[in-house]
Amino acid sequence: MNEPSQQPQLSERSQAAQGRVTRMLLRWLMRPARVAAVETLSPRFRLAELEGEALREVPWTTGQKIQVAMGAGLSARTYTPMSWDAGSGKTRLLAFSHGDGPGSRWASGLREGDICQFFGPRRSLDLADLDAPVILFGDETSFGLAAALRESLRAGGTLHMFEASDVVESRQVLQAINLSEARLIARSADDVHLATIEAELLRLAANGAQFVLTGKASSIQRISRALKAAGVASSQIKAKAYWAPGKTGLD
Ligand SMILES: Cc1cc2nc3c(=O)[nH]c(=O)nc-3n(C[C@H](O)[C@H](O)[C@H](O)COP(=O)(O)OP(=O)(O)OC[C@H]3O[C@@H](n4cnc5c(N)ncnc54)[C@H](O)[C@@H]3O)c2cc1C
Repeated sequence: MNEPSQQPQLSERSQAAQGRVTRMLLRWLMRPARVAAVETLSPRFRLAELEGEALREVPWTTGQKIQVAMGAGLSARTYTPMSWDAGSGKTRLLAFSHGDGPGSRWASGLREGDICQFFGPRRSLDLADLDAPVILFGDETSFGLAAALRESLRAGGTLHMFEASDVVESRQVLQAINLSEARLIARSADDVHLATIEAELLRLAANGAQFVLTGKASSIQRISRALKAAGVASSQIKAKAYWAPGKTGLD
């Protein structure tokens, strides 16, 4: 048995070994990228271009996600590529810094030349068999997906409906990414605004549209329920929660 005085030493050594294994695993699983450019579109929105050898010849489809490592450990935050140029090894993300979480701090502090590591791209929303007309409902976290969807040829004819905490700021950002025609509805504390969105979406459901629901979990649930109750088939609805109050690093 070890002397009591040796125990902390052994435990430190095994911790260091564990740290080395984690770092090795992460290096093996993650793609390193350099921040090629960052554009501040508004106080809380930043458009980042990431580039690197590890991004070349990577298969990517609209709706997939990447998980950016926060610090040296396994913690990560999820973002949606707006585009991916496999030839030149570049991707673009639109990050919304809603508060003070690691993802928000990462996006606010990004500088050209920074290095980051990420997992992916990985499956999230499968939008491969999507045909117009498409209605995308989401929020500030969905703007990147909306931009990617617009570029996807088969989804030509997408209508966007977003709930947002600051409509003026969001309008400015949507204009900057050429989505000025999107509908923006201000969030209300008691979610009364969702009734307006529901009514509008149910009207649009009548012409056989397909729905993509992203953003806040509870909003998606409510809208999905309303659509199904109105007879929209589950196969016409693709949903993915991007965040939920009180949950961190939702994936
Ligand atoms: C598949 C997928 C794709 C995503 N794509 C994007 C994207 O392209 N761009 C983007 O900006 N975000 C995107 N998100 C959302 C983003 O990952 C989350 O908002 C994440 O929580 C941000 O990390 P954080 O460290 O700032 O906050 P966290 O530490 O994860 O969260 C802390 C708390 O903040 C609150 N919170 C989290 N997100 C929001 C929000 N948006 N608004 C208000 N309050 C919030 C919650 O109460 C949470 O408990 C995506 C998420 C998923 C799952």
